[in-house]
Amino acid sequence: MRTIMHVDMDAFFAAVEVLDHPEYAGQPLIIGGRKDSSRGVVSTASYEARKFGVHSAMPIAKAVVLCPHGIFVPGRMERYQEVSRQVQAIFPQFSPIVEPLSIDEAFLDMTGCEHFYSSLEHMGQSLKRKIRAETGLTASVGIAPNKFLAKLASDWQKPDGLFVLRPQEVAGFLRDLPVGKLWGVGKKSQALLHGLNLHYVRDILPHSEAWLQAKVGSALGSQIYHLARGIDERPVVPEQQAQSIGHELTFSEDVDSFPFLRRQLAELSEKVGWRLREQDFYAKTVSIKVRFHDFRTITRSHTLPHTFNDDDTIFQQALHLLEGVKLEPVRLIGVTVSNFSQGTQLSLFSTLDQSSSQVNEVMDGINRRFAPGTITKGRTLPSKSD
Ligand SMILES: [Mg+2]
Repeated sequence: MRTIMHVDMDAFFAAVEVLDHPEYAGQPLIIGGRKDSSRGVVSTASYEARKFGVHSAMPIAKAVVLCPHGIFVPGRMERYQEVSRQVQAIFPQFSPIVEPLSIDEAFLDMTGCEHFYSSLEHMGQSLKRKIRAETGLTASVGIAPNKFLAKLASDWQKPDGLFVLRPQEVAGFLRDLPVGKLWGVGKKSQALLHGLNLHYVRDILPHSEAWLQAKVGSALGSQIYHLARGIDERPVVPEQQAQSIGHELTFSEDVDSFPFLRRQLAELSEKVGWRLREQDFYAKTVSIKVRFHDFRTITRSHTLPHTFNDDDTIFQQALHLLEGVKLEPVRLIGVTVSNFSQGTQLSLFSTLDQSSSQVNEVMDGINRRFAPGTITKGRTLPSKSD
């Protein structure tokens, strides 16, 4: 029998905004766009805003109608990612097997770790307390014998919830749930099941797997047959090692000055290089991404015969790729490196590589002691040429 824990931060983006702006506490808070924004959608609504019927994926304009006195903020993804990293850093203290699901959710396989705690409730409390202490935020936690049930459990007493579902309680818990709560049953499958007079999990139980498969298809039929019985064998899959490192920049206005773009590229290359060296990786491939004024997006890549981790190589390759792109006004530009290996494998016969890596070492040392970006190379500074 496994023990799976699902952790879900409560109204995460809104909660981070309240953390940084205590005056928002207790207010209906809507993340996704300003009050006058015509095209944004709600990414998170605080629990106070939800009372007015505001929910995620709703157009901002509609949220303004429902909740005219609400506080509307566009959202700060970088800040949310920063807090997300703080939360993610806590999980390995509880389990070596962690599967992040999204910026604010993760599964932890706690099998075998339970006996470090006096009870499963105590185990969940201890994680919640740790998250609260280190970030000031609340999370909801569900503990159950598998992923499907753990995710249902974390949702059960949200916000700031803790719900433990023991094997002997599973059947009773599932019976009266609407079929839409089953993993993988979206709006379309739900309509299909309703058409068969299957509204609650208990309605599925009398039918054989073969009958369900004949009615709704082989994959969905088998899935709901098993989920209705609380059976879900999917393992918790630990996060893959990073496959690429990238940074991108969106401009507030479309840009068509090449010298300006060149400077942004240099700055992005330094950020990417810094993270590459922090993780002790060497890359072989550099890619750029360019999004034009009409949202058309292109990527270009180049793979070198040797590995590298210095800003210069990243920048020179990225610049070369950018020079090959027919430029129109640009809305976003990004630099990514991939194709990783660990350890040095510089190209032979190149003195440039050596001096360049020494420069990076000195710069990284300074940036580590102060803040990233304290010292940058001259080419990221504004020049007179543009
Ligand atoms: Mg959440």
